[in-house]
Amino acid sequence: MEKGKIIIISAPSGCGKSTIISAIMNKGCIDMQFSVSATNRGPRPGEKHGVNYYFLSDAEFQEAIASDAFVEYEEVYPGRYYGTLKSEVGHIMGEGHNVILDIDVKGGVNVKEMYGPEAISIFVAPPSIQTLRDRLEGRGTEEPEAVEQRLARAEYELSFAGRFDHVVVNDTLPEAVAEVESLIMDFTSR
Ligand code: ADP
Ligand code: 5GP
Repeated sequence: MEKGKIIIISAPSGCGKSTIISAIMNKGCIDMQFSVSATNRGPRPGEKHGVNYYFLSDAEFQEAIASDAFVEYEEVYPGRYYGTLKSEVGHIMGEGHNVILDIDVKGGVNVKEMYGPEAISIFVAPPSIQTLRDRLEGRGTEEPEAVEQRLARAEYELSFAGRFDHVVVNDTLPEAVAEVESLIMDFTSR
């Protein structure tokens, strides 16, 4: 059985990564499975343990770091950790499936460096910072303070775009979905 490949999707928070990934997975045209990350942030309404994230306590996350459970992890916001689990990636690729990662820009660059040609890295960019603000506020999942924190970090994160294989601007959703899907299809069929 051929080993699966790695698809990395990164972007500042609110640019539409999760929406684009769900749309492509729902279409079901590409053989890929989502790697569920671990985090020590709390679940948003509707988010489920083991589906969106493995929601860990601060102590559990530190234990996972100590036991070398992560391919990579980052403190994406002060005190808020997110990490890609070796068990997830290993299990999915071991079964011959492609694995898709929704990870922050630093994690994205690191994983691409680790896996080289076995990985494709795609950066999703917003049409403008104002649109990003509107989307983050419209999503309504963060307190105003957290929205400001995410926007402040977004400018720094946007400077990573040039280190990705591809940049897709998420202006109109169906077009962004089609563009990302086509990049993944070309890569996985190689
Ligand atoms: P991320 O996973 O990158 O943090 P989300 O997928 O949660 O971002 O998207 C942030 C918000 O923007 C969501 O409310 C989503 O419905 C909305 N959104 C995503 N893409 C578009 C788009 N192309 N046009 C308008 N709204 C969008
Ligand atoms: P959110 O709190 O909005 O779900 O995610 C915040 C940020 O953490 C996003 O940029 C998301 O891509 C990133 N993230 C999620 N999982 C991981 C992971 O396993 N590793 C890294 N480095 N970032 C992650």
